[in-house]
Amino acid sequence: MRYVIGIDLGGTKTAAGIVSEDGRVLCAARIPTAAKEGAEAILDATATLVLRLVRRAEAEGIVPAAIGIGSAGVIDGERGMVVSATDAISGWVGTRLTEGLQTRTGLACAAINDVHAHALGESWAGAAAGSSSALLVAVGTGVGGSFVVDGVPQQGARFAAGHVGHFASPYAYEFASGVASDGDAGANDIAGGAVALPCSCGGAGHVEAIASGPAILHSYNREVPLADAAPDTHAVFARASSGDKTALLVVSRAAAACGQAIGGLANILDPEVVVVSGGVAGAGPLWWDAMTRAASAELLPALAELRIVPANPATDAAVLGAARLALTRDPVKVAS
Ligand SMILES: [Zn+2]
Repeated sequence: MRYVIGIDLGGTKTAAGIVSEDGRVLCAARIPTAAKEGAEAILDATATLVLRLVRRAEAEGIVPAAIGIGSAGVIDGERGMVVSATDAISGWVGTRLTEGLQTRTGLACAAINDVHAHALGESWAGAAAGSSSALLVAVGTGVGGSFVVDGVPQQGARFAAGHVGHFASPYAYEFASGVASDGDAGANDIAGGAVALPCSCGGAGHVEAIASGPAILHSYNREVPLADAAPDTHAVFARASSGDKTALLVVSRAAAACGQAIGGLANILDPEVVVVSGGVAGAGPLWWDAMTRAASAELLPALAELRIVPANPATDAAVLGAARLALTRDPVKVAS
């Protein structure tokens, strides 16, 4: 049996685990990501985490042979490098991930974007196990995704595939009664006085601008008096559950935007199964039911039987997927 270490490095936490080649996480650990301390500090802390796990494994007679890492940002898997990233992690762009971890730990390392790692884990040993193709859509602080075919996440010609949150949504517009009504035709105005909601990517009118957790909070607070503003997205969901009409409207609109996007993508890609994960997706039946209704309405008749399933929150899918990458990427290097 071969063993590797899978790492899921995000903007707030870094999780890692020793994973067997049959898809079991033997022991796991996590640390907060030192997101403001720069790339070298993050690589140092991640390597320390890895070496701690290696020692724990060796105490049980297990020798991990390689590292797979799923990281936030656009990751060039061939060069093992961060090509672009948001400022959630300071100085992350240009970081040589695989080289940095190999030098510090002595273990061969393979890297991929964290959402691709998540999707790979779901299709290997999670909610999409056994399927020939799967579309993963993660809805949380951002909206991202990955399309896995025959166990391989499709990363695109520039490693930028999977930006599910960044295409046009008809829901991501504000009409005359809101902010748009200043009468001043700005760059994001379209005919009829609708204004595209600004998106985290710098664009506007995208799925993420209406469907992400921060977008839900924003939408709600725009529509209630300042004194009634919600402190966070969780509070908006709680108010929706207790019957607050504005919260209900905002949550169902966000879910419908997401469902419509998923339905449209499914029409294009025809995946065997769609797995929906992330903090917003896990918020409860209010969101889930509105999302699946909108997705079903969008699907072509040929896709009527498409399964849309939630991710299993108990599965550490990104750690599993990163490990799977290490196990399959270069079998010569990881052979024990
Ligand atoms: Zn965008």
